[in-house]
Amino acid sequence: MPSNAGQTSKGDKNAAPPLPAPLRVAVADSHTHLDMQSGTVEEGLAKAASVGVTTVVQVGCDIKGSQWAAEIAAAHDSVHATVALHPNEAPRIVHGDPDGWSRQGAREPGGDAALDEALAEIDRLAGLPQVKGVGETGLDHFRTGPEGKAAQERSFRAHIEIAKRHGKALVIHDREAHADVLRVLKEEGAPERTVFHCYSGDAAMAEICAREGYFMSFAGNVTFKNAQNLRDALAVAPLELVLVETDAPFLTPAPYRGRPNAPYLIPVTVRAMAAVRGIDEDALATALAANTARAFGY
Ligand SMILES: [Zn+2]
Ligand SMILES: [Zn+2]
Repeated sequence: MPSNAGQTSKGDKNAAPPLPAPLRVAVADSHTHLDMQSGTVEEGLAKAASVGVTTVVQVGCDIKGSQWAAEIAAAHDSVHATVALHPNEAPRIVHGDPDGWSRQGAREPGGDAALDEALAEIDRLAGLPQVKGVGETGLDHFRTGPEGKAAQERSFRAHIEIAKRHGKALVIHDREAHADVLRVLKEEGAPERTVFHCYSGDAAMAEICAREGYFMSFAGNVTFKNAQNLRDALAVAPLELVLVETDAPFLTPAPYRGRPNAPYLIPVTVRAMAAVRGIDEDALATALAANTARAFGY
């Protein structure tokens, strides 16, 4: 035990939040990044299962991460994979990445040919049986500037085509890009199963998603004090289109905001969502479990 162990008490901002009370009805974490969390995969899965989170969807963001997701899903029945180049990854492949944000490190500009080559590998992975979805893909106007927009949109369109050809779910990352994401989906024709991960639209957009049959996956930020717009969206979303996710290690639900997130914290978000919907926790969990299985076809 390190000498500073006493500091990892209640108030420690970096300490893992405590285990919540288990759910009585098991659910899935519809979007997580186990490769960015501390501890082993087995530890993370066991901890999640101990509170009723018995299934996780492991999401790839680049080539290495997508290959890893496919490997982990092949090795664990409780893990399903999705594969993609993240919306912020595609522009880096084309234009270079001097800061090395991606886990593959700084990269030289590779142009459209490099993007095509990366997409071919995503296409190959998308054909694997344990890969249930293509994503996270989409548009991110927050992190990617105007110079990266064309590459990002080209990559998004290619991912939609791959998802449809393989009959897999499409997992959308939409950051400050609602109108453009909805437009591209319309132009390309959305796959049969499309999931807005970390749903960030308002109630009006939820009505559009409902009409189109898009799933809306709510993350820990639905619990944040300043996120009334998300709770309003959750309140009007058809129950059969609602999913829950951690997007861990990010977006830890209140009251643990800022501390490390992991799939075992799903019950905290489920309980907050049940309160918003005014329904019983078990009823919501039953719906979430069925919806996630339907969305990803497992
Ligand atoms: Zn995302
Ligand atoms: Zn994510």
